[in-house]
Amino acid sequence: MRDVIIIGSGCAGNTAAVYAARANLKPLVVAGHEPGGQLSITTLVENFPGFPEGVDGPVLVENIKKQAEHFGAEYLHGSVVEADLSKRPFRLLIDNEWHETRTLIVASGASARWLNLPSEQKLIGHGVSSCATCDGFFYRGKKIMVIGGGDTAMEEANFLTRFGEEITIVHRREEFRASKIMLDRARNNPKIKFLTNTVVDEVHDVEKKIVTSVKLRNWRTNETWKRDVDGFFVAIGHIPNTAAFLGQLDLDPDGYVISHGGAKTNIQGVFHAGDVQDRVYRQAITAAGAGCMAAIEVERFLEAEGH
Ligand code: NAP
Repeated sequence: MRDVIIIGSGCAGNTAAVYAARANLKPLVVAGHEPGGQLSITTLVENFPGFPEGVDGPVLVENIKKQAEHFGAEYLHGSVVEADLSKRPFRLLIDNEWHETRTLIVASGASARWLNLPSEQKLIGHGVSSCATCDGFFYRGKKIMVIGGGDTAMEEANFLTRFGEEITIVHRREEFRASKIMLDRARNNPKIKFLTNTVVDEVHDVEKKIVTSVKLRNWRTNETWKRDVDGFFVAIGHIPNTAAFLGQLDLDPDGYVISHGGAKTNIQGVFHAGDVQDRVYRQAITAAGAGCMAAIEVERFLEAEGH
């Protein structure tokens, strides 16, 4: 029986583990299907406080893990397949084994939705990104493409005009899902151009490990063409990793955990941290802060219960 199991090993889960381990709770961290979370697929992180020269994303998250292990956190490779949160102790099926815990921190994150083109996947972190705030800075004076037609795509494109010389939004339909205000803001920005009814067939150049151009196709006319770009930002939504909790945790229509104040969920003893609940900020530093909050709440909860 564990005092606390933490699901997720990104910035939120690892920071929760540092705090819980220092409180002598011997947390078990379930690494999940993307160990290290979103930071593990970025390169240089320049906005995490305390690193004036920036820090490599995978190094940062690995260091938080080491810090947690130093204080006694244990890591388990695997993912939660099934969860029974109907009574305490909570029970979790992790790969093939059931685990019991008094409290739970859900820090399973939200995975960026990708186009899933093989070339796109190979160039993630090498010109392909899902986060303008994280990587926009690297494209000063460059040509940038943003894929998507929702609010995120508009917001990212607007943000990227601070850096790029030219931003092209590529959307698969004629109509936009984005709210009128966000769409108008993008339309009124002279640096932003639109390509509609257009899909991406391939991102070049996998051999050189750098984005140089994109093969586009107008699916109505079947016309295909090549366009030079330096930065390729995919903004087609995120998928919160909450499938195992469906019907137990309060989730919004898109599957994000609904907060019941602080780090609380609708179930006593189950807490949330990071992107699994946060669809607004999604930053390493906010996720780390949320992990700290969740661990402090676990500590107080267990203390109040006399453990
Ligand atoms: P979204 O609203 O679901 O939009 C996703 C966009 O990506 C859609 O235009 C969709 O095209 C496109 N898309 C999805 N899969 C695709 C694929 N495989 N290939 C090409 N295009 C694809 O997601 P979001 O923009 O991330 O927004 C999520 C939520 O957060 C929304 O409720 C949004 O309002 C909110 N948000 C708000 C703000 C703000 O107010 N400041 C900022 C960001 C996000 P289709 O339209 O053809 O389906």
